[in-house]
Amino acid sequence: MDLGLLIGLFSIFIYVFAKNVITAQYKVYLLFHFFMMIWPIGQVGVHTTDRPHLQIIYITLSFVGLSMLGFGWLLFTKYLAHGAYYKPSRNVVLSFLAPSLLLSVAMIWNPANLFVAPVNGDYGEREYGPVFWCMSLLLVAYFQYSARLLWHKARIQTEQAERARLKNALLGLVVMVALPLLDLLVNVLLDPWLPVIPGITSLGILASDIFFLYSLQKHRSFDLVKIAQQDVVDTLSVGIIVLDEQEFVIEINRNVCPKLNIVLGKRLEMEALLAAHLLDPSTEEAFMRLYRSQSGERAHTELVIKHDPKQYWSLHAAPIIIGSKLLGKVITLQDITELKSHVLKSQEQNTSLQERNRALIYMQDELFQANRKLEQMAITDSLTGCFNRRFLMQQLEHEVLTNLRYKIPFAVFLFDIDMFKLVNDTYGHVVGDEVIRRTAEAVKGALRRTDILARYGGEEFAVYLPHTDQEQAERLAQRIREVVESNVMPTGRGRAPISVTISMGTHVVERQTDLQIDDVKSYLEELFYNIDSALYRAKDNGRNRVVNY
Ligand code: GH3
Ligand code: MG
Ligand code: MG
Repeated sequence: MDLGLLIGLFSIFIYVFAKNVITAQYKVYLLFHFFMMIWPIGQVGVHTTDRPHLQIIYITLSFVGLSMLGFGWLLFTKYLAHGAYYKPSRNVVLSFLAPSLLLSVAMIWNPANLFVAPVNGDYGEREYGPVFWCMSLLLVAYFQYSARLLWHKARIQTEQAERARLKNALLGLVVMVALPLLDLLVNVLLDPWLPVIPGITSLGILASDIFFLYSLQKHRSFDLVKIAQQDVVDTLSVGIIVLDEQEFVIEINRNVCPKLNIVLGKRLEMEALLAAHLLDPSTEEAFMRLYRSQSGERAHTELVIKHDPKQYWSLHAAPIIIGSKLLGKVITLQDITELKSHVLKSQEQNTSLQERNRALIYMQDELFQANRKLEQMAITDSLTGCFNRRFLMQQLEHEVLTNLRYKIPFAVFLFDIDMFKLVNDTYGHVVGDEVIRRTAEAVKGALRRTDILARYGGEEFAVYLPHTDQEQAERLAQRIREVVESNVMPTGRGRAPISVTISMGTHVVERQTDLQIDDVKSYLEELFYNIDSALYRAKDNGRNRVVNY
């Protein structure tokens, strides 16, 4: 019986091996199948010999195989439940394996026959000890866990074929557990009263293997097309997540960043995902409105994973609508880290450029102001605020030429404060300065806007009067003299205010002369010499008067 079953299992092994493409799931199946075959091998072996030391080896082999089957089942169930890309870590596999391994060691060791004891020095008849019962309980625990997992997955699975596949595996599992339990009941517990019925466990193993194979083959778990499809999805550079109506993740490819904690079979909590990774929190509300809308709108946002190195993802969510029914969502995630870092960098550069630009404009403005101040300072007299002598002479060089060329009459006055030493000597230099300043101010008030008043020396001033003929010049000169004379100025500290007078030399140019540019300077020298001599005459004639050259 056991031999027949062994041959059956071996045939399946050959069939699967010959027919299918090797995948991880398939490899796990082969491992699991291998564990299945150990039991009948041991059972066959035990009947081929009556030597106790060989019998115990075969018996131990059978049960080690059986206990490994629990581990094999669990691993295989995991692969079945989580899809072809389930990749348990080494520690997880070890923790699955550890209980089986420990009991296998205990069975091989068989201390004080705690696992199995011979009856009448022969293992043909045998008694099982506590290690055997532990192993039985362990198997039940493994199977119960696997069955629960399959049941849960089958329940949340929305795809019909996938669900059927899981249910078939579950059925295989139940058969697998039921028959060894029957074996236990008939051949161990009821052994004294019933004849030994061989091969019950082997039958269970074979039946469950067939169920398994059937469920895998029928639902094309090993199908190349399906694997290829998955491969295509995986080779896309974007991450793809498919959600069902309840937003459970039913498909996910490799390119979904693990740091986003999106797990196959679990619900995708979009709010939590956004709370942890949304790039611009102010866009959350708008995104969620589109994401939850039933009208089939697409939603887009950007995520950031803050841990080093920073990563940016562009997230698109599109509904899957068939007819008018919303069946789920497809979410794509595209890595935009490089693009984003370029954008951020150029934004940064832009702001720093703008800042530098602003600083430059500010500096330019300051420079302009400073320049203007300097220009102003270069042409004005600091005490009186009038123009200085240099400016006046520059202006005259230009103006005189024009005036002469176009026969425009003009006048130049030169006046000097009378007896000014006396003011200084009587009231001091501070008051003297103030007198010079106020006199200039008074004269400025009497002039026309186009006239130029310049401080010529200490208390001497010159006035240039364009478009001025003899008559106008005389009138203006007298007006200036009168304005100064009547300008009463304070002298401070309870002293009586004073006024000063001026003496003035004037010259009006009405008669035109031909003049070359080179001659302007000497013309002006002569002009001022003449005016100066008129001024001296005014002084000599008794001061406070105007003398025309
Ligand atoms: P005159 O009527 O002949 O002009 O007699 P004066 O005393 O005014 O003689 P003069 O013009 O030769 O002397 C001018 C004096 O003015 C000499 C100098 O001490 C004084 N002075 C020149 N510049 C300034 C100045 O900026 N401030 C003050 N307080 N005094 C000045
Ligand atoms: Mg003087
Ligand atoms: Mg003087």
